Amino acid sequence: MKKLTLAEWEKHYIAEPLTQFDQIHTMTRRVYADRQMKELLESLSDPVTYNDKPGFFQKEYAVRWAPRYLHAQIAELNNSKVNPSQLSVTISKIIQESKGALSYVPGEVKDKHHDTPENAAGLVKKIAKFYGADLVGIAPLQDRWIYSHTCERTEGGSSYTYEKQDIPEEIKYTVVMGFAPGYNILKYARTYIAGAGHDEASTRMVVTSALMTQFLQNLGYKAIDCNIDDVVISVPLAMLAGLGQLGRHGMLITPQFGPRIRLGVVLTSLPVSIDTPIDFGVTEFCGVCKKCARMCPSQSIPFGERNTVPNNISNAPGGIKWYHNAATCRIRAVTHKYPCSTCITVCPYNKPDTLFHQAVRWFTDHARWGDRFYSWMDDFCGYGKVKKPDNFWNEWRPEDK
Ligand code: SF4
Ligand code: SF4
Repeated sequence: MKKLTLAEWEKHYIAEPLTQFDQIHTMTRRVYADRQMKELLESLSDPVTYNDKPGFFQKEYAVRWAPRYLHAQIAELNNSKVNPSQLSVTISKIIQESKGALSYVPGEVKDKHHDTPENAAGLVKKIAKFYGADLVGIAPLQDRWIYSHTCERTEGGSSYTYEKQDIPEEIKYTVVMGFAPGYNILKYARTYIAGAGHDEASTRMVVTSALMTQFLQNLGYKAIDCNIDDVVISVPLAMLAGLGQLGRHGMLITPQFGPRIRLGVVLTSLPVSIDTPIDFGVTEFCGVCKKCARMCPSQSIPFGERNTVPNNISNAPGGIKWYHNAATCRIRAVTHKYPCSTCITVCPYNKPDTLFHQAVRWFTDHARWGDRFYSWMDDFCGYGKVKKPDNFWNEWRPEDK
């Protein structure tokens, strides 16, 4: 694995100076802020519930929606953002006005144990792991990764807010944390079962991000919990924090978990030393592999070379990459009434972090001329298949992750 200088990273991924992207153009916001898209999705959507097919039983629906509902609720409580929701402000006020254990007093900067950026980074990384992160890295915060405006659905969902986002100048760092869903549960892509895997990790992500934010504020520093892509674009920050590289499917690929990772980001004014971007051969391997593009049921992943041409307004322009079509991916999800994530499940980098798979990764990193062979071997060994959910409850061992 090679460490990249920032100049090398820029040359590899950036085509032109980037301007700030507007959150209203992301698919998570277009579902309610883009009238045409909203009407289209509403015309395709029925209330999603369970049925009598394996992967869609009531217990599978229940195991998926428990974490999904919870992380949506926790995300609503986030009042650390520059433009918090009215609901989070109200709840925070109620808590602050209550007595006893909940009468929290913000800290001041007094403790000198973290007085060098290196010590502070070490402290933050330990705390991230303690609170539940599988991976953690630190990147500098730059304007180009911050959404120019924020867009939030208001209570009742019939309208939305649209506000300029100005992050305080003293906030210069991002703590990027990774949360891995279980390998064994994600094999059952295109069912509620794999959805449960993603949502369990997302719940750990929102809880850990909230805890990290509170921890930094208790030390007396500013901290903003970015929740699920609420404030910044998380994938380039994760790359700059040394967590991984960008894959053909538009997601971060990490050495430890491949693309099987959820990203939580906390911004802070605590001076911390930053990490270095890495290169372990992902761009070259994706160049020959294309398995996610072949298996994508909505043809949302391109087959060609990396380029600089966005698909539609939901792609932030200016990068050299494979532009994933988030609109067709979303339309498919709504039309078929179940989550997909096939591209994550079938990706050859999605493997348990065992000695054997570490050895394979060594070859894909150090002998890149063999990428076609490794890709063929992955298929030959029977990896990268979506598993049928018929016998899930007997096969699944949650402790095996
Ligand atoms: S499936 Fe293959 S082409 Fe797609 S992201 Fe994974 S390694 Fe890259
Ligand atoms: S989630 Fe499914 S539809 Fe969307 S890009 Fe991945 S494989 Fe394609």
